Formats: sequence, structure tokens, C-alpha cells
Amino acid sequence: MTPRATPVPPAIAALPHDLRGYPTPAITPRDPEGNPTFAITSAARSLICAVERRCSICGTPMPPGPVYRVIAAAETEALVAAQAAGRSVANKAPSPEAPGHRTCMLFAAFTCPFLARPNARRGQDADVMGAALTRGTPRGSSAETGNDIGGAVAGFAEYEFRYTPGENQVAFIFTGLTELRPHQLGADQIPELIAALADSDSQPPADAQPPTMEACPPYLLNDEAVAEAHARAILEAAMARKQ
Ligand SMILES: [Zn+2]
Repeated sequence: MTPRATPVPPAIAALPHDLRGYPTPAITPRDPEGNPTFAITSAARSLICAVERRCSICGTPMPPGPVYRVIAAAETEALVAAQAAGRSVANKAPSPEAPGHRTCMLFAAFTCPFLARPNARRGQDADVMGAALTRGTPRGSSAETGNDIGGAVAGFAEYEFRYTPGENQVAFIFTGLTELRPHQLGADQIPELIAALADSDSQPPADAQPPTMEACPPYLLNDEAVAEAHARAILEAAMARKQ
């Protein structure tokens, strides 16, 4: 499946594309030549998105309201089980992955190779809601339906983040599950993305990208030095406020 064959949110279409024609997420660090290094996330870019409440995929602002993530199988199963048991759903395990718009995360679910493949992250231990889910943990609801859960697009009411300079990593905590859309394959989310994009064309929901589309700022595009400098400025401003 090529990116051209699938629906693309306008703010993602406006991003720089790599040599193969794939849009490069705002969160993806670039090498000195400006080429994306897809396998890793960038603390500088995560920090910028966290502080300025920007979508980690398209780099444009996220309005007040829920924020979205693509989550792995183990976390999805824990959230499904908690919902079924009527437990309040809270996820205390910090994630290094910054949130984004609903449409952008629906898109990421089937285009990001690290998210679209079921089991891509399965097999790693996951500490979800204080319960350690390890390889071989029975998969509650998925066993009953015969569907293997590959992951989900999940909405959360709010996020907090913490930056630890020594570790050079931003840790996100998400609270208040607002929506859970499990999928077997990331491509299962394509019809919902088509519907969401059609919706936002006619009547923009609260989460829609603004009609006068704001572009991804220069400091989240292809120049890594500019991104690093902007993140440093954010940190220096935060330190100055503390004094
Ligand atoms: Zn976005």
C-alpha cells in the first residue's frame, strides 16, 4: 500500500516528504542532510510538541479537548478489560510517544511501520495500570471474539509530561480515556479516517484542524539544528522562570 492510495489529512500532506514519497512526522529527527531517521524519536521535538501542545505527526496545534495516540496490543487489551469490568481507566505508565490529532493518529496507525504491524511491539513487557503484562498473558476479549488485537487508536482527556535532562527523554502520562478503537491491522482504521476527513470537510468537530490551516513550524521540519535550538530556548525560558 502506498501513501498515495490512502486518505491523507491535509496537514500531513503539507509535511516534507522523504525520497520514497512518505510524509515525515514532526516528531521524527533528521540527519545532517535533512533525511528522516524513522526508527527513533527525538527528545527535542517531543519537548517542543509537549510544551506547545502540537501534534507529534503534523506539527500543528492541538485544540483543547482529547488528544490521541496509537497504542500497542498489550495496552489495548488492558484498557478493553478495564472497560469491560467497569473499572475507571487510568494509565499510569509513562510513554515516550507524544500525542496528536485524531485524524493524524488514525493515519499513523496504518502508515507507521512501527505501529501498523500487529505484534510489532508485542513480546515486550508492558507495565499497564500497575499490572505487569508479559509475553504469554491471556488476551481476554480477543480470545473470545477470535480477533487478535494488534493495537488501537485511543483518545485521552489530558496529558502531562516530564522532561529529565539527564535522560534526555520526555515521558508522557495520559489520563481519562475518551475513546478506544481497537484494530487487528492498522489498516482497519482507514474507513474511520475517510469518515473523519469527510466530517471535518462539512462540519468541523472540536478536534478538526482549523479551516485556515496552520502550517507545521520551521523548527519541526527538516533542519535538526533549528529543532534543537528551539528546544534549548524552551528549556532556557523554563529555567529562567524558575529563578
Ligand atoms: Zn496532526
